Amino acid sequence: MTAIEIIAKKRDRQELTTAEIAWMVGGFVRGEVADAQMAALLMAILLNGMTGRECADLTLAMTDSGERIDLSGIAGVKVDKHSTGGVGDKTTLVVAPLVSALGVPVAKMSGRSLGHTGGTIDKLEVIRGLRTDLTPARFVSQVSKIGIAIAAQTAKMVPADKKMYALRDATATVESVPLIASSVMSKKLASGADAIALDVKAGAGAFMPDVARASELARMMVEIGAHNGKRMVALVTRMDQPLGAAVGDAVELAEAVAVLSGEGPADMIELCQTLAAHMLVLGGVSRDLDDGVARAREGLRTRVGLAKLRQMVIAQGGDPSVIDSPELLFRGLERIPITLDRQGVVASLDARQVGLAIRDLKAAAGDRKQYCGTLLSRKVGDAADGEAAVLLYPSGVRNAAASAANRIRAAYCVADAAPPAAPLVAETISSRSL
Ligand code: URA
Repeated sequence: MTAIEIIAKKRDRQELTTAEIAWMVGGFVRGEVADAQMAALLMAILLNGMTGRECADLTLAMTDSGERIDLSGIAGVKVDKHSTGGVGDKTTLVVAPLVSALGVPVAKMSGRSLGHTGGTIDKLEVIRGLRTDLTPARFVSQVSKIGIAIAAQTAKMVPADKKMYALRDATATVESVPLIASSVMSKKLASGADAIALDVKAGAGAFMPDVARASELARMMVEIGAHNGKRMVALVTRMDQPLGAAVGDAVELAEAVAVLSGEGPADMIELCQTLAAHMLVLGGVSRDLDDGVARAREGLRTRVGLAKLRQMVIAQGGDPSVIDSPELLFRGLERIPITLDRQGVVASLDARQVGLAIRDLKAAAGDRKQYCGTLLSRKVGDAADGEAAVLLYPSGVRNAAASAANRIRAAYCVADAAPPAAPLVAETISSRSL
């Protein structure tokens, strides 16, 4: 077997065997397969696709490249949750503590910001002192003791994904359904949960441009999980405009605290309740989705998830004062009001442009980057009658802030009327319905 033969096979649209896929991934991680050869295979996969069986084999080969977390000693159905990445998506910060407080242990490995999309780890690290670099032993013991941990993946988990992702980023091969499916699911399998709820984003602010492609990705991931004995559900959710009002690490943390306190934007509340409900069903706490939604709604009203988030912050060494008083996060920040040129109704708000504006502002802000963010007070369907958003930033980056504000202003399209609103959750796919 040689790398050249394997690349040529995929180039010529032939199906790779389990052994060929394992050989290529193993060789790449050990440094025996060159970057150029793996990059060529990745491009052949992007162009010619993979069968479900090939993608499942690729996922397992990637999972087997590193260590796995063993959660089997913890009682109950351990549930994980993953979003494929969006703008303003802070649902993990709400859903994980909420579901944990309602009786389902949550063991969650999260990622950092990627391109124009945000990352849960960056948002959590806004909290002074909070550690996300938990060892596997500490991660497992925390879930066992308090029913929740959110940590960054350790360097020893899925090294194949780290190396392959860096190559994909540099070779325009990120947007491939089998490559995204295997990247996400290899990390989920290594994290050890029994059941997984996936939030597959579709639209301008997502990696998948439309619902049809996102649905294809969701099905592939559900199949991979089910094949590996996991209970799975995937929601395909729209990400044309940002989720909620807040985009940026500190402002998103504050919005998550507001939702956990029974407040916050309607779209965030709807998605958090729906995701939590599915996790409660997967975890065996709720008999059906309606029961799950009712419990999630009540949990937000009674703030049990907020108390659980506070407990998790303390367990991970963080200072809980910003959970008690999130306004502390914005003390001393400068702000620019963003007004729109014309009056009417917001017809669209390009999530990708908002995400890129905040990404570039963060790059200019250096070690104070987590304080950069925007609060969008006007979303699609709202009247555009003045100030549409506010941009917050630490002093010293005023020029970068002015260009971010211009980009956010240009992301708004104002017309005489808005198109009819499409439902936030476009599709639900579960391992039982496949
Ligand atoms: N998130 C991942 O973890 N991997 C991808 O390939 C895309 C999004």
